Amino acid sequence: MNNQAELISIGSELLNGRTLNTLGKTLGGALSGIGLELSRDTTIPDDLEIIQDTLEAALERSSVVILSGGLGPTIDDITREAVAGLLAKNIYLDHETVKKMARHDAEQGHITTEAGKRQALIIEGAQILPNAVGAAPGQQIDLPGGKTVFILPGVPAEFISIMEESVLPWLQGRFLEIIPKISRSVKTRGIYESDIVTLLENMEFEPWNIKLGFYPNKDVVEIQLTSEQEFEHELLEAERTLRSLLGRFLHEE
Ligand code: ATP
Repeated sequence: MNNQAELISIGSELLNGRTLNTLGKTLGGALSGIGLELSRDTTIPDDLEIIQDTLEAALERSSVVILSGGLGPTIDDITREAVAGLLAKNIYLDHETVKKMARHDAEQGHITTEAGKRQALIIEGAQILPNAVGAAPGQQIDLPGGKTVFILPGVPAEFISIMEESVLPWLQGRFLEIIPKISRSVKTRGIYESDIVTLLENMEFEPWNIKLGFYPNKDVVEIQLTSEQEFEHELLEAERTLRSLLGRFLHEE
């Protein structure tokens, strides 16, 4: 068991230029807010074998694997079948979920179809994670060895809703001992990233226990300093030193 989480973004539309995959950014930001790190975001098509191979490899590496997409009513929505097949579990139709969907559909003046009911197919042993903004619920499968698989809808609003309502609170409880890292940001303007690096090397700016990240965007470079909370004093000291070294190139917004 480790503190690593991975996202597997499923959907051929994410690979053929139709749809921009935004869930890595969403999940990565949310996880770092609670001190966890998204170690990979793998984007794959709606292909049973590829889903199973990717999930199997992710489970070998990471404690938490979150799959998104492929929970809809169409025949190319095969995420449930792929996960159930790999984990050797059955799938059943959850009548409570069908009832909820029927109520939701009725409110919209729509009758739930047989195809729509596919969204109420649940993997044996999975916890059902309510979807407040759409039809297909999320599913959480706890595996032997402390590994957990989450399956969430790909529609961003639905993914975010279930992530906030169910996934993040569960992860916070599970990884109670993790304290989120702290970071500071310094921005420059009018100096190349490579010249900043040379300047910092020449001045032997190599603060201990602090990670530096460089994020150039046009003529502005953002330098992010990150550390564990116990090194807050060193972090603030490093920020002060960095600001004095960069002097006239500092960019305050
Ligand atoms: P539902 O059960 O609500 O139909 P789903 O899990 O089946 O959702 P998909 O059918 O895979 O989700 O995708 C539905 C829509 O959500 C797609 O048309 C796509 O525009 C969007 N979507 C899916 N995955 C992503 C993603 N990773 N980033 C951004 N948009 C996405």
